[in-house]
Order: sequence, then structure tokens, then C-alpha cells
Amino acid sequence: MTTVKSVQEEILKPLQRHKQLTVKEAEEISLGLIDTLCDSYCQDEATLQYLSMFFTPQLYQDLLDERNLNKWCGYPMCSRSPERIRDPFEVDDNTKRFLWENNPYAYLSIYCSKFHFRCSQFYQVQLSDESLFARTGIHLINQSSSELERLNEKYGVTLFEQLLREKASEDDMKSLVAGLRRLGIKNDNDNGTEKGDDQFETDLSKWLSDIKIVEHEEPELLGDLEKDG
Ligand SMILES: [Zn+2]
Repeated sequence: MTTVKSVQEEILKPLQRHKQLTVKEAEEISLGLIDTLCDSYCQDEATLQYLSMFFTPQLYQDLLDERNLNKWCGYPMCSRSPERIRDPFEVDDNTKRFLWENNPYAYLSIYCSKFHFRCSQFYQVQLSDESLFARTGIHLINQSSSELERLNEKYGVTLFEQLLREKASEDDMKSLVAGLRRLGIKNDNDNGTEKGDDQFETDLSKWLSDIKIVEHEEPELLGDLEKDG
């Protein structure tokens, strides 16, 4: 299992000499994270939240792909397999894209459940695009609390599970997403165009309907999450 401590001990510890990472060191961190998490999962929510300091949306996508190759659900909190295991070499990229765009259940070949599909999307959409080597101080193990607060403000994320536990209302979600957008955080479909905005609204309403499904039909899922958190 991956923990904040294991990431610090195994990946960050050799990089404590200076506050600014070199490009090479940033790459070492990226590869180290993929190496660790492609065949493991985060012990708790705090670990996944800590890791948001080191992820870009692209690095997270790479991790997702690697996890799938190892037959793990894409969401790094999860120890299950995707619902539908398929040989990744069985179809070419065009076929894959066609299947993805035309099959409403395509996410089940990547995730164990729709719930983790949403959790993962929600996480990814909040990740910063800033290059790792430009993120001053993220790798330092002994941080002052004011420095941690600064990093958290810049790179911190809220997990979908946390929103659910807080029983976020539609208004809460809308203001949260508006807040994310003000920070310039966008999803793949959002190119700052009106079409992007529409797409984002559509995604948001899908997420909201997922919250309702989880609340009403899968109370044991929330129970599990509460136990873990
Ligand atoms: Zn899962």
C-alpha cells in the first residue's frame, strides 16, 4: 500500500538538497510515482490528496493506463480490477476510441465501477497543469505549516468521496466547480469555448445524478468510505 510516508521515504528522501527541483529530479518523482502506484493503491484519502502536489493531468492519465495494464481499477484508491478486463493489445487505437465514444459503459474496462470513474474524473479535473520542476518546495519532507498551507492552496484537491460524505447539495457542487474554473482549472473538453462550458455543465449534472444514486442505492458504499477515512 502506498502512504504519504512511503512516498517520502522511497521517492522524495534522496531529493532534499535544494528547494528547486531540476527537470531530471522532477522526472524521477514522476516515474517513481507511476512505478509505485501502477501496482498498489493509496492507503487513505490523505495520501491521494498529498499526491495531487505531484500530478499533472497527463501524469495521472499515464498512471491510469499503467494501472489498467496491470489489471487494476484506474482510481488510485482502489484495489479491485476493472469490471471488464480486456486485453489492451487486442484492439487498435481507432477501435478503442470508437468503442469509448459509442459505448456508454466503456468506463467499465478502465474502472471497477461508475463510482470510481467519477471519483477519478473529479480528481483529474482539479490537477494543476504546471510542470513539476516549477512547483517549488513540493518535494521537501519537513515543511513548515505555513508552507504546507501555501502548497495546499495551490495544488490541493477535494475528493469526490469527501463531497459525498458532506452531502454536497447541487449548489455546493456548482460553486465548487465555479471556484475550480476561476483558478483556471479545466477539463479535457473545456477549451474556454461556449461548447466547452456546455460540456462541463453536462458532466456536472451527470456527477450530481451519481451522488443521488450513491446516496439512495448504495449506503454501504458510503459506510465503507467513512470507515476508511
Ligand atoms: Zn475502483
